Amino acid sequence: MAHSNISIFVPHAGCPHNCAFCDQRTITSTEKPPRAADVERICTAALGEVRDPADTEIAFFGGSFTAVPRRYMLELLEAAQPFIGEGRFSGIRISTRPDYIDEEILDILKAHHVTAIELGAQSMSDEVLEANERGHSAKDAAYAAMLIKSRRCFQLGLQMMVGLYKSTPQEERRSWRRIAALSPDTVRIYPVVILEGTRLGELYKSGEYQPFDFDTAVELCAGFLADAEQRGIEVIKLGLHASRDVEAKKLGGFYHPAFRELCEGRLYLRQMVKELTAAGGGKLPKSAVIAVPPKHMSRAAGHKRCNAEYLRTLGTQVRFIPREGAEHFEIEQVENAD
Ligand code: SF4
Repeated sequence: MAHSNISIFVPHAGCPHNCAFCDQRTITSTEKPPRAADVERICTAALGEVRDPADTEIAFFGGSFTAVPRRYMLELLEAAQPFIGEGRFSGIRISTRPDYIDEEILDILKAHHVTAIELGAQSMSDEVLEANERGHSAKDAAYAAMLIKSRRCFQLGLQMMVGLYKSTPQEERRSWRRIAALSPDTVRIYPVVILEGTRLGELYKSGEYQPFDFDTAVELCAGFLADAEQRGIEVIKLGLHASRDVEAKKLGGFYHPAFRELCEGRLYLRQMVKELTAAGGGKLPKSAVIAVPPKHMSRAAGHKRCNAEYLRTLGTQVRFIPREGAEHFEIEQVENAD
């Protein structure tokens, strides 16, 4: 499993689609498609900088890698070849659309040392995919995932967006179950951020599109995170990468610079409420002392101490104490109401 990526963004290059949520230029913060010389320059610089090249992949992100003109795709792949192998990077990671994967493309990717393929599934509801002008079906995503897995030489990644136009919390849960059932090695979960200059932005401004509330998005994503952990699926991203461009162009949706932290905190809260109720003999105690591994202190207390505050509104005053070696968290002491 690679632990870091040398990211090379291929913005919108050759993409014939216009997905309702996409403003690729804002998200990648670059407008000029990279050429072979750029790949060589970036890889040469990175070889001297990364701690463990053998644990690092060259990553072509940001667009629809296998949908760009074939000649251009090969130019980028070939430019990366001298940087892969003994003493250099471990392979190449790409992200693409499900409808641009077939046996021939997989042959090319394999021959060029691509080791991980991420598919933008986004939703497994055809109605949601269509409403967001995605241009492919849920079946396309399932078929492409099956083709990739059957090769046994690629790591499969799936990307999902939460809160798209026409989606509902029930639909998100259904989509997640179908995505998880495809047994990806990794997932990226992106709660929708509505950007100025996109079709979603227009629908949002006209009032036609009203995503569900922020707390529902956190609840849903926390649930997906917990389920992924149980199934052994690595969540490599949860929430859009914080960037000034996105912050400047966002109109609505679920942007938060620490979205994953919110979800991790929510999972902690769920578990604490359950265990505190059990420790209080069926109801929440008046106060409690909870020992937490130091590295999990902020998760337990929640973002800006929101978990501690929430428990206080339920009538429980909690004090967290750091303890090296504590298992997740341990309820140290409780005092019940009279
Ligand atoms: S396919 Fe990808 S790059 Fe093209 S419009 Fe959709 S999200 Fe943007």
